[in-house]
Amino acid sequence: KIKKLVKENGLLVDVDLLKEEKGIGVKKSGCHGFCEAGPLIRIEPFNYLYLHVKLEDCEDIVNHTLINGTPVERLMYKDNNKLYKTQEEIPFYQKQTRIVLGNCGNMDAENIQEYISKDGYKAAAIALTSMDSKEICKQISDSGLRGRGGGGYLAGKKWSQVLSQNNPTKYVVCNGDEGDPGAFMDRSIMEGDPHKIIEGMLIGGFSTKANTGYIYVRAEYPMAVERLRIAINQAREYGLLGENILGSGFDFDIHINQGAGAFVCGEGSALTASIEGERGMPRVKPPRTVEQGLFGCPTVLNNVETFANVPIIILNGVEEFKKYGTKNSSGTKAFALTGNVVNTGLIEVPMGTTLRDIIFDIGGGIPNGKSFKAVQIGGPSGGCLTFDESYLDLPLSFDSLKKVGAMIGSGGMVVMDEDTCMVEVARFFMSFTQRESCGKCIPCREGTKRMLEILEKIVAGNGTVDDLELLKDIADTVKNTALCGLGKTAANPVLSTLNLFHDEYLAHVVDKV
Ligand code: SF4
Repeated sequence: KIKKLVKENGLLVDVDLLKEEKGIGVKKSGCHGFCEAGPLIRIEPFNYLYLHVKLEDCEDIVNHTLINGTPVERLMYKDNNKLYKTQEEIPFYQKQTRIVLGNCGNMDAENIQEYISKDGYKAAAIALTSMDSKEICKQISDSGLRGRGGGGYLAGKKWSQVLSQNNPTKYVVCNGDEGDPGAFMDRSIMEGDPHKIIEGMLIGGFSTKANTGYIYVRAEYPMAVERLRIAINQAREYGLLGENILGSGFDFDIHINQGAGAFVCGEGSALTASIEGERGMPRVKPPRTVEQGLFGCPTVLNNVETFANVPIIILNGVEEFKKYGTKNSSGTKAFALTGNVVNTGLIEVPMGTTLRDIIFDIGGGIPNGKSFKAVQIGGPSGGCLTFDESYLDLPLSFDSLKKVGAMIGSGGMVVMDEDTCMVEVARFFMSFTQRESCGKCIPCREGTKRMLEILEKIVAGNGTVDDLELLKDIADTVKNTALCGLGKTAANPVLSTLNLFHDEYLAHVVDKV
């Protein structure tokens, strides 16, 4: 684009010339996370971060910063007349701990050499050449790493279970389906640091004696698919995938499988069915995926963020990983911060960080002087709306949220202000889950449809008090009897809003008391 600009707008400097004469180049990175302020340009080695950059700004950037090293202040972050020149100084970043997202936005995601220069594949080299399978499983177990996709199951325990299976054929599957509305953590890692996922899967394969990996990515993420494809090919060229990797005698390769965007395919058994070419529908468990997963073989199934944590744990050690987080939820967690918040974007914080810190310090609070009302965490499945002001100081962890009837889920976080109608929010999420229900079991197939009908009736002002009771009754039934996680949690937005915002429901019904 800059080249085109040079030609069309007569910029003073040609980027090719810059590269040749001054060693200045332009790189395409992944997402920096500060979505609210995009498009962003980071200028190295000054670490300047330019915000809301338009094509017209390029001439000044080239002439002032690239040639003379002077900042273009109008493109920098300002707050109360204070100028924040570098990315690290900006409050949005300063209050975060970006480890898994550390490379995103800071390197060329399509260049394996850049990843290697940032200690990339060092963890794989350590694992494959100086550790055995059990040691790796133990290190991942000792780290306390829990699955970042929603369930929070201990990753090391899962790996040990797969390792203990006698089947000579095993698989490693990375879940990059990420269907929650408002969530884009996995997408950013796949686009911004694809080699980290490949390295995590490679270590996972070696430690469980699996020789084949699949990354299941939704086709709506074309850039993620493209960058993963480039990264896999580069890893093959560098001998980091294929036969006898790093002279260890271990063979491992990875394939990409594109999903068609069905939300239910994020569920483990539906995902493996989809890779097998079957219709993406969950099955009854047991057998569990660790025993009979992909093609009926033992399978390690973790999500993108979980695999991205693995090289960090192997490289830095258990104690360094556990330095962040809480006793039972160690490490950091990426969240997609969206909705009624000033700084929307992709963030990473230690587990145990409070919602107040996230929404007000990193997120900059609620826009337009409005007050905070609720936050929905974990998408329609993790779906929860359980936070009023009194919950703002609750440390976020897998267990603390469960105690208040919520879930971290995969990390989608939608903030709502005082003007948000909670009944409409419940209707929105129910319309999503009803559409995405695969229809295999009656409680979910029929229950979500009936709940949606009642919610639509209430939102339209035609509901009755009896409808509220019926809604609660159906929600409880679906929660307790549906086959898979989608159905079991589909009622969460209804139940939590009925519980915490009952007055709002009453205000909608025609025979209010
Ligand atoms: Fe399909 Fe819903 Fe049943 Fe899951 S709970 S199997 S999504 S119908």
